[in-house]
Amino acid sequence: MAIVNDVVALIGNTPLLRLSKLDTGPCELLLKLENQNPGGSIKDRVALSMIEDAERRGVLKPGGTIIEATAGNTGLGLALIAAQKGYQLILVVPDKMSRDKIFHLRALGARVLLTRSDVNKGHPAYYQDYARRLAAETPGAFYIDQFSNPANALAHLTTTGPELTAQSEGAIDAVVVGVGSGGTLGGLQAWFNEVSPHTEFILADPDGSVLADQVEHGKYGDAGAWRVEGIGEDFIPPLARLEGVRRAYRISDAEAFATVRELLKMEGILAGSSTGTLLAAALRYCRAQTTPKRVVTFACDSGNKYLSKMFNDDWLRQQGLLTPPQTGDLRDLIA
Ligand code: PMP
Repeated sequence: MAIVNDVVALIGNTPLLRLSKLDTGPCELLLKLENQNPGGSIKDRVALSMIEDAERRGVLKPGGTIIEATAGNTGLGLALIAAQKGYQLILVVPDKMSRDKIFHLRALGARVLLTRSDVNKGHPAYYQDYARRLAAETPGAFYIDQFSNPANALAHLTTTGPELTAQSEGAIDAVVVGVGSGGTLGGLQAWFNEVSPHTEFILADPDGSVLADQVEHGKYGDAGAWRVEGIGEDFIPPLARLEGVRRAYRISDAEAFATVRELLKMEGILAGSSTGTLLAAALRYCRAQTTPKRVVTFACDSGNKYLSKMFNDDWLRQQGLLTPPQTGDLRDLIA
């Protein structure tokens, strides 16, 4: 790879790894390593796309202020790019978010405003309402609003999708994705509908999220709770285009965490919790096939920020999530 002039140029063009140690049934399972983006996640692509779109439309001027409501990977991507491009960034973050995430965002130069976690949509202190109001009251500010910003899905239509087609020489039978904002799913469907309409879309959903119900029954009820971060919703994000999804798998936290640990042990990839959900669904899909298929899924973010959670046996035990040791493996019993 040639020398690049700034870190923003390192976003995207991520490697595609064939999983060779895990049991993938008759299928070839490919993992796109979005954890290798400079901000550590797939959301770097989206942050860049939304900032560049706002620049093109003239709604974000040099030295202007970007506002968003998130403590997640979108915030990290925005903070990285805002610092490089000389924008101010204000992130409105619910106060239940981990201290480490807030330290990381502040260290990147973002202004982090904490707001109440115990209020719902419609309350003035709800983090999204707060951010929208702040943007309206701040001269020259641009509210990113990833849940309804078309440049979110566009990032996947114009970069992730074309990369996958080029890397796999066009032959992909199924794509397994999760939904947070729905940008990945919506953008990739738009791409594959154009270039490879036979490619199936499979939803990986945390147990408790309503998205799998919507795929299976066209309606949904109240959401439950889950610990996997970044995917699963209690509503249907407009960008997601769930109607194109062929089938959905509900994955428990225990299965997601066990699977992402297996990924590290067997294939050497340290990925985040949503990757566990996606990979567990992809493995279930692969093992259920009777003919060979080529399947793609994603390592959505890096596992570094989860070391004290799902990679920590004590935390898993406290949460009641330590899965029993495999037959013949006594180490966990002795420990
Ligand atoms: N995984 C992680 C770790 C994420 O942060 C996100 C974004 N919330 C996703 C997956 C889902 O991506 P999208 O917003 O495109 O649906």
